[in-house]
Amino acid sequence: MTNKQVKNNAADCVNEKRLLDLFLELAKIDGPSGKEQKVADYLKEALPELGFTLQFDEAHKNFDGEVGNLIAYKEGTDSSVPPLFFSTHMDTVLPTKDLKPVIKDGVIYSDGTTILGADDRAALAAYIEGVRAVIESGIPHGPIELVLTVNEQPGLVGARYLDYSRPKSKFGYIFDSSGDVGQTILKGPYSSRIWMKIKGNAAHIALNSEEGNNAFILAAAGLLDINLGEIDEETLANIGIIEGGELTSIIPGEVTVAGEVRSFSKEKLDKQLKHMEDAMRKAVEARGGSVEVTIEKKYSGFSIPEDHILTQTVLNASENIKVKPYLTETLGGADTNVLNENGLICLTLGNGFQNIHSFRECISEENLTNTGRLTAALIQQWYESQK
Ligand SMILES: [Zn+2]
Repeated sequence: MTNKQVKNNAADCVNEKRLLDLFLELAKIDGPSGKEQKVADYLKEALPELGFTLQFDEAHKNFDGEVGNLIAYKEGTDSSVPPLFFSTHMDTVLPTKDLKPVIKDGVIYSDGTTILGADDRAALAAYIEGVRAVIESGIPHGPIELVLTVNEQPGLVGARYLDYSRPKSKFGYIFDSSGDVGQTILKGPYSSRIWMKIKGNAAHIALNSEEGNNAFILAAAGLLDINLGEIDEETLANIGIIEGGELTSIIPGEVTVAGEVRSFSKEKLDKQLKHMEDAMRKAVEARGGSVEVTIEKKYSGFSIPEDHILTQTVLNASENIKVKPYLTETLGGADTNVLNENGLICLTLGNGFQNIHSFRECISEENLTNTGRLTAALIQQWYESQK
């Protein structure tokens, strides 16, 4: 015995092989958006074995899905500590049926005929292995909650309809980003869509063309006056949809143009939306047409300070498992945006998947293992910081 106390690290109980097997098992469960029942069935077996109590909400009834969001709660060895949640989505962007994983030079791929499903079954597997490691290590810990959403890929739909009266936690983490483990995203954007219905006057080219006012030409004039792309260092704008027209012989009377704006600043978001509306309206009205504009909020931004307990816990936990943390921000949207807006304060962490939403999707075994290790370390660090 030496005087120096060696700290028992729960992360050291993460079993690399067991985590890899679990990930491959989960990735093979077919569960594209809205069809997550098989994933839910798996978790109904696996999570109670780790001491979780499960409840499903009714979110799916809003979009004809198979199953609602899953909220799973496990008491701590010391339940005087506030619970910590981990979240991810149960759906994958495309089916993973018949997935044949290929491991080459420490990187896991599919055989190129399906996606791998690392987005985000990697996180799901890591959470389960991380909790198992905490249990096996025998360290004291607070309550742990899993907030597992459905129908995330089409636009954070499950999170939007989540029954926020069910989770007991206030603070948590979402591993769902392409940076290596250690990536810590403190800031996400506000985002809104803008729909502009441009009206001219429909007419037949051979019968009454003198009455026509081509809506496409009106829209084109407006589009040329709209600033798009990178508006400033924290604001992006795009036009992504043009819909209209009936026949090649008809002067189109109406066309819909739609786009979206993202910004870390709500003020800049609103300013850009107004610019798009004003520029279109001015160009169209000058040519005798009219515009109807609808703004649709996608999600709100979030910003977690560097000195926040969640940030400090990641920095310390990463250091404990010898992973280099780095703080960053993203203009991508995630469940993190919706959860924060609804009082589940959280930040996004990297788990290192690559080329997601494509058949070239992959994740290194190192990132997979580190996701499990960081999960365990976060549970441990959270408890120690709250005592
Ligand atoms: Zn994802």
